[in-house]
Amino acid sequence: MKAVVIGAGITGLAVTARLRDLGWEVVLVEKAPGPRPQGYMIDFFGPGYTAARETGLEPRLWELAGQVDEVAYFDRDGERRAGLGYAAFQQGIDGDLLSIMRPDLELALRETLDEQPRYGVGIAGIDNRPDGVTATLTDGSRVEADLLVGADGVHSRTRALVFGPPEGFLRPLGLHTAAWIFDDPKVRETVGQRFALTDSVDRMMGLYGLRDGRVAVFSVHRETSTELPGDPRPILRETYGDLGWVVPNALAGLPEPAGIYYDLVAQVEMGTWHRDRVVLLGDAAYAVSLLAGQGASLGIAGAYVLAGLLRTEPIGEALTAFERRWMPVTSERQRKGRQGIDWFLPHSRGRLFARRMAMRAMVVPGVNRLFSTALVGKSHEPVLSAGG
Ligand SMILES: Cc1cc2nc3c(=O)[nH]c(=O)nc-3n(C[C@H](O)[C@H](O)[C@H](O)COP(=O)(O)OP(=O)(O)OC[C@H]3O[C@@H](n4cnc5c(N)ncnc54)[C@H](O)[C@@H]3O)c2cc1C
Repeated sequence: MKAVVIGAGITGLAVTARLRDLGWEVVLVEKAPGPRPQGYMIDFFGPGYTAARETGLEPRLWELAGQVDEVAYFDRDGERRAGLGYAAFQQGIDGDLLSIMRPDLELALRETLDEQPRYGVGIAGIDNRPDGVTATLTDGSRVEADLLVGADGVHSRTRALVFGPPEGFLRPLGLHTAAWIFDDPKVRETVGQRFALTDSVDRMMGLYGLRDGRVAVFSVHRETSTELPGDPRPILRETYGDLGWVVPNALAGLPEPAGIYYDLVAQVEMGTWHRDRVVLLGDAAYAVSLLAGQGASLGIAGAYVLAGLLRTEPIGEALTAFERRWMPVTSERQRKGRQGIDWFLPHSRGRLFARRMAMRAMVVPGVNRLFSTALVGKSHEPVLSAGG
C-alpha cells in the first residue's frame, strides 16, 4: 500500500512513522524549506501520551522535555498572584505529562523515520477517485497512491482542494496568538523553572525558560478580525506594551517576522474527514485550539488510531470507522476548549479573582485528580484498542 502525506508537522510525522511501521510506502512532503524552528511549549498528555508510550517514543520525549515545577501567574509588579505545582496536576493523571517545545517534539518524531520528508514541496492538485488518488506537487511531480493524508494544519490546502473554502469549516474563537524565542539572562533567571504567565484581563503572555538559556514566549489576546498582519510586531507592542513585569523585555526581544509564529486561535469542525481516498488528520481535520491544550496530543493519537484501523480494514471502511471512533473524542475536546476561554483569558477583574480562588482549591487532594481527569477526558480507549 502507498500513501502520500501532506505536511511534516507533528501529525504528518506521526502518521508517516506509524504507516511505515505497518509496511506502507509513504511519501511525506512539507512546504517549509526545512524543520520549522519557531516554537512554543507543548504540555503533552492525554491520548497522544498513551500513543507515544505504545510506540516506544516516550523515553526520547522525556530526554528532550524541559523541567517545569509550577504554573504561576504574576501581576504587573512581578508579584505572584496564583500558582499550581505541576506535581499536583501530574499526580492527577498518574505522571503522564511532560512539557516539550514543538520543534523538539517534531525532532523526536523525525528521528523515528528511515527516510526524511521532502522539504520545500507542497500540494498543488489532487485527483481523488474511489480506487486511488493522484497528487500533483508544487515541484511539478505527481505521486500515485492508495491514500492521501492531509496533515497540513489548521489552514489546510488539502482541505480547500477536496472539501472547499475555509469559511465552511474554520471556527475562529475571537483570539490571536503569537510565539517567539529571545535571549535575556535576567528574564531567564526571573522565570526559573516555571511556566510564568501574566495575571491580566483579555490578554496574556506566558514565559518559559529553555535548556539553552533562552526564553520562549507565547501570547494570546482578544481580536475578532480574521486578517493576519504581515509583520505582527507593531500589534504585539501595542497590545502588550503596558503589561509591566518582564513583558517589555520580551517585546524588546521580538525577532524579525520570520521568527515569530502568529495566527488566529481557531477550531476546525467538519461533518466528515474523508472523501474517497483523501483523509484529513490533526489540526487540518479537527483543530481543537491551544485553549483545549491537546492539539498535538490528538494529532499523534489520531495518527495511531487511523493507522491501527488501516491495518485491519479495507481503506474505505477504515476511514469511516476512524470518524466513528475518533470524532466523539475531538468534539468533546473542542467543546471543553470553547468553555475554557474565560478561564484561560478572563474578561474582567472579577473573573481573574475567581481563577485565583479556583487554583487554590486545586491543591486539595482529590480536587487535583478531578481537575486533571476533566482536562484529559476519556480519550485513551480508542488509542488502546488501536494497538497491536
Ligand atoms: C501557542 C500554542 C500553544 C499550544 N500548546 C499546546 C499544548 O500545550 N499541548 C498540545 O497538545 N497542543 C498545543 N498546541 C496545539 C498544537 O501545536 C497543534 O494542535 C499541533 O501542532 C497540530 O499539529 P499538525 O501537525 O496537525 O499541524 P501543524 O503543526 O500546523 O503542522 C502542519 C504542517 O503542514 C505544513 N503545510 C501546511 N500547508 C502545506 C502544504 N500546502 N503542503 C505541504 N505542507 C504544508 C506546515 O508547514 C506544517 O509543517 C498549541 C498551539 C499553539 C499555537
